[in-house]
Amino acid sequence: MFESTMMDIPLTIEMILDRARSTAADVEVVSRLPDRQLHKTTYGAIAERTERLARALIDAGIKPRDRVATLMWNHSQHLECYLGIPLAGAVIHTLNLRLHPDEIAYIAADAQDRFLIVDDVLLPLFEAFRGKHHFEKVIVVGTAKPLPPDAIPYEDFLERGNPQITLPKIQENDPLGCCYTSGTTGRPKGVVYSHRSTILHSLVTALPDCLDLSQDDCLLAVVPMFHVNAWGLPYTSVLVGARQVLPGPFLDAPSLLDLMEAEKVTVAAGVPTIWLGIREELDARPRNLNARMVVGGAAAPEQLIRDFDRMGLQLIQAWGMTETSPVGLVSRLSPAARNLPLDEQYKLRAKQGRPAPLVQIRVCNEKGEVPADGKTSGEVQIRGPWITRGYTSGVVDQRWTADGYFKTGDVANRDALGYIQLTDRTADLIKSGGEWIASQTLENVIMGHPAVREAAVIGVPHPKWSERPLAVVVLKPGAKASSDELKEHMAPHFAKFQLPDAFVFVDAIPRTSAGKFKKTELRQEYRNWSW
Ligand code: AMP
Repeated sequence: MFESTMMDIPLTIEMILDRARSTAADVEVVSRLPDRQLHKTTYGAIAERTERLARALIDAGIKPRDRVATLMWNHSQHLECYLGIPLAGAVIHTLNLRLHPDEIAYIAADAQDRFLIVDDVLLPLFEAFRGKHHFEKVIVVGTAKPLPPDAIPYEDFLERGNPQITLPKIQENDPLGCCYTSGTTGRPKGVVYSHRSTILHSLVTALPDCLDLSQDDCLLAVVPMFHVNAWGLPYTSVLVGARQVLPGPFLDAPSLLDLMEAEKVTVAAGVPTIWLGIREELDARPRNLNARMVVGGAAAPEQLIRDFDRMGLQLIQAWGMTETSPVGLVSRLSPAARNLPLDEQYKLRAKQGRPAPLVQIRVCNEKGEVPADGKTSGEVQIRGPWITRGYTSGVVDQRWTADGYFKTGDVANRDALGYIQLTDRTADLIKSGGEWIASQTLENVIMGHPAVREAAVIGVPHPKWSERPLAVVVLKPGAKASSDELKEHMAPHFAKFQLPDAFVFVDAIPRTSAGKFKKTELRQEYRNWSW
C-alpha cells in the first residue's frame, strides 16, 4: 500500500479563529452602532470574546448541533456569533429581520432554534413573534432598557464563558450554519452549511480571480449578515486578515459613502438596489473613491457597470443562491476577454460570469448541455463542495439530477469564452404565442436608458398571446421618458415580439427581503391589465 503521508486535519472554524488570534490579531473591525457612533475593536479581541461566547453557550446547556438563532444587523458581536456559535459545536441560524414576524416565527420553529441572540433595537420585532416560538434563552446585544422578562444582556452572558469549560471536538462535516431560502415558491426551506464547506468557500472566494480579498483590503459588507452569511465575506475576511467595516442599521447611500470614504474601504459588497442608490448620490454629489464593488443577488445592469467605472468604482458581478453558499459564478475578465473591444468587455462584465474553482456548472435543456453560442438557453445546474444536496427537516424536492447536480431554476446561456449569462428565473419567463421571452434581458436594456432608475418586466395574461410583457418603470428623480421613447431605445436589441406592449411608470417597485424585485406581487397587481 502506498498512502499519502499528509496529516488529516479537519477543516473547521478553528482554522479561521487561529488566524484571528495570530496573523490578524491586530486587524481592526469597525462597526457603526445604532446611535451612529463607530465602535472599533480587533480580530484578537473578537477571538477572545468568541471563545467566551462558545463556553458560555455550553455552560447554558447548548449541545453539539443545537441551533442558536441571531436577529441582528452587521456588527462585531454578530461576527462573534458567526465564529463562537460554531465553535461551541452548535449551528448559527441567522434570522432575516426583513421578513414578516409570522414567517420569522415559522422559520425559527422549523429549525427548532433553542436560543436567540438579538439586537436591542430589534426587540420590538422580536415582541411581534415571541408568542409563536419559544426560545429557551434570549440574549440581548446593546444597552437598551428595560429588557424583556428573562432576557439576559450579551455582555453578562459572556461572563459565564469560564475557561475551564471544554470546547467540543469538531469534525469538518459537522453543521456550522443554517439559512432559509426566501420561499418565493412554497414555504422557506433550510440549507445547512458545514465547517468544511465554509472553509473551502472562504478560501476560493478570496482568490484573485474570484472576489480577490487579501490582508491589504478593507471590506464593507453592505449585504446583511442575515442573508446567505453575507456571502461568506465575514469568514473570508478573517481568514485573509482583511479589515472589516460593518455598517449596522444605516444602509442609505450617503451613510454608506461616508463610511467608505472615512474608513478607506477597498471592497464593498451588496445587491444592485444599494448600488443604484449610490450611483444617484454620486451623480448629485461626486466624491473621490477608489474601490471594487461586488454585486450579486440580482442582475447588475451594464449601464451601472459603465457609470461606476467613470466614478472610480469597479463593479464585479457574482451569482449565487442560498443553496450554493452562495458564490458560484464570478464575472472577471479573462486574459482573452481583455483583448476584446471595450463594448464587448462591458457585455461580458454584465454577464453572471464563469464558475468559481471547485464548482462545476453546466447549462442544460431537454437536449442536454447547450452549445456555447451565447444564445441557446437552458437551466443552470451546479455541483460542488459548498452546494447543498438537500433541505432540512426532510423536505423532499426534485431539484437534483441523477448525477448530483442541483437544478437552480435559473435560465441562462453560455458563450464561447465560458461566460454564463442569466436571462431569467424559470418562474419569470414570459410565454407569448408559444415563444419564450426572458424578462431580465429586457430589464437590463431598459435600465440602460439614461432616464430610468429601475425596471421590472412581467408577463401579464393576454387574450390572444396567452401572455405579453409589461414593463414597470421607475424614472430617475426629475427625469422624463415616454413609453415610445423607451420602446425605441430597446428596439435595436430585440425582436419586435419581445418588446413590452406597455410601460407603466411607478414610484417604486416592490422588493423582497433581500432587495430583489418582487415579481409575484407585480404579477398579482397587474393580472387584470386591459391591453
Ligand atoms: P437567494 O437564494 O435569495 O440568494 O436567491 C438566489 C437567486 O438570486 C438566484 O437563483 C438568481 O435567480 C438570483 N441571482 C443571484 N445573483 C444574481 C446575479 N448576479 N444576476 C442575476 N440574478 C442573480
